[in-house]
Amino acid sequence: GEHRPADINALVEESLNLAYHGARAEKSAFNITLTRDLDPEAGAAELYPQEITRALLNFIANGFYAATRRKSEANDESFEPRLSATTKNLGKSVEIRIRDNGTGIPPDVREKMFNPFFTTKPAGEGTGLGLSMSHDIIVKQHGGRIDVETEPGLFTEFIITLPRHAAAS
Ligand code: ADP
Ligand code: MG
Repeated sequence: GEHRPADINALVEESLNLAYHGARAEKSAFNITLTRDLDPEAGAAELYPQEITRALLNFIANGFYAATRRKSEANDESFEPRLSATTKNLGKSVEIRIRDNGTGIPPDVREKMFNPFFTTKPAGEGTGLGLSMSHDIIVKQHGGRIDVETEPGLFTEFIITLPRHAAAS
C-alpha cells in the first residue's frame, strides 16, 4: 500500500537533521558531534518513508541520550559525545548503522529492551516504546532486521538491514 521507492541516504540525512534540531530546540545546551559515512551507492529501497523515519529517529534519539548521559557521568571535560550514521549497499538489501559513544547496553537490558514499555530512563524521559515500535516497523512491516553491537561504558551500534523490495512478514 504505502510502500514506495525512497532514497536511503536522503532518509538518513533527514532523520539526523530532524533529531538534531529537535534536541537543540528542547535543550539549548545540547551538543553532540554528528558524523556521516553515507555510501554513494546506497541507492533506494521500497519502503514506507514516514515509518522508517520514525524508527530512525528513535535510534538516533536513544544514541543522543546515551552519549549525553555518558558525558554527564564522565568526570572528563574532554569527553566528546558523538553519533555516526553509516549506510552501505549490500546488493539486495541496504544497511544503516547508527552508532553512539554512550553508556553502552548491559546484557540484562539487552534481553528486555525490545519489550513494550521497557525503559531504564527516569519517569517522563522515556516511554519504553521506541525499540518495540522500531522492531515492528523494520522487521514486521518491511521484512528487515535489527542487530546490535555494544560494549558497556563505550559504545552502541544498531545495524538496520532493509530489503530493497519490501517483504512484510
Ligand atoms: P526509551 O528510549 O523510551 O527508554 P526504547 O524502547 O527506545 O525506550 O529503549 C529501551 C531501552 O533500551 C532504553 O531505556 C535503554 O536502556 C536501552 N537503549 C536503547 N538504545 C540505547 C543506546 N543507544 N544506548 C544505551 N542504551 C540504549
Ligand atoms: Mg527510545
